[in-house]
Amino acid sequence: MAAKRIDGKVISAAVLDRCAAEVAALKEKNIEPCLAVILVGEDPASQVYVRNKQRACERIGVRSFTIQLPADTDQQTLLDEVAKLNADPAVHGILCQLPLPRSLDERQLLLAIDPKKDVDAFHPVNVGQITIGSAKLLPCTPAGVMEMLRYEGIEVEGKHCVVLGRSNIVGKPMALLLLQANGTVTICHSRTPNLAAYTRQADILVCAVGKEKLITADMVKPGAVLIDVSINRNAEGKLCGDVDFDPVSEVASAITPVPGGVGPMTIAMLMQNTITAAKQQSGLI
Ligand code: NAP
Repeated sequence: MAAKRIDGKVISAAVLDRCAAEVAALKEKNIEPCLAVILVGEDPASQVYVRNKQRACERIGVRSFTIQLPADTDQQTLLDEVAKLNADPAVHGILCQLPLPRSLDERQLLLAIDPKKDVDAFHPVNVGQITIGSAKLLPCTPAGVMEMLRYEGIEVEGKHCVVLGRSNIVGKPMALLLLQANGTVTICHSRTPNLAAYTRQADILVCAVGKEKLITADMVKPGAVLIDVSINRNAEGKLCGDVDFDPVSEVASAITPVPGGVGPMTIAMLMQNTITAAKQQSGLI
């Protein structure tokens, strides 16, 4: 039997509706959540991401503005912009669209953002909070995956969750959130020998590698839940994930498509973080 298709568009729309209601309630209290986005240079993909984030803000009633800086901006100018936003009480969330031009130091930038306004949750203080299980701001993509599992009523507790990938923005925080939800977690990476031996044990398999058709049907346990975070382009230029979708759908019990799976969740969770940041800075939580 074919697996249930987990629809990220439907679930992200539900999250955005919930966010819109929260924003309306905050406005009743004279709090207007506000997200500031810094965009350095003119990378077309980054411009699209920033526009999509602005649209999501408009949809739920969050105020947003973008500080557009030229590609040859120096590090100090960038840090000065961050410092101004940190000091502005009307700004609750700060996001710098990555990647930065090579001449700029990304690590120093992430450290400069006030952790309370760090809506990407990349600052080491927020990473630490995630590690000890007391984070308010959660990394958007892994938090989006957890939201999908909750929405679909997929229990994590007691399940063997195998995460493929150990990046700071997806794999590692994903593993921590699954662990916090009482999953038994295995993390695999490029040095893991015999990947299939691990994937075949997974009740929940989260793929965040970035390799088309890495996961074939013979690597999947019957009835497993497949979450495909990756966004790749195949030979025809079409978007695809790490999972060989059609054959794996015959083995899995539930699966996220690419596109239309985890992708839309990331922006929805960014909106959620902006609201959380506004509440936190207003003393409501
Ligand atoms: P990344 O930084 O390139 O990390 C990829 C990870 O995969 C690394 O940990 C790497 O291991 C591991 N890996 C590489 N080859 C492997 C193999 N053969 N077997 C097992 N593991 C292997 O990528 P990322 O930023 O985490 O993103 C992962 C994917 O998710 C990308 O396709 C990206 O476009 C997508 N993504 C989607 C969203 C969304 O909103 N849906 C958000 C962020 C990222 P090593 O650490 O050993 O090198």
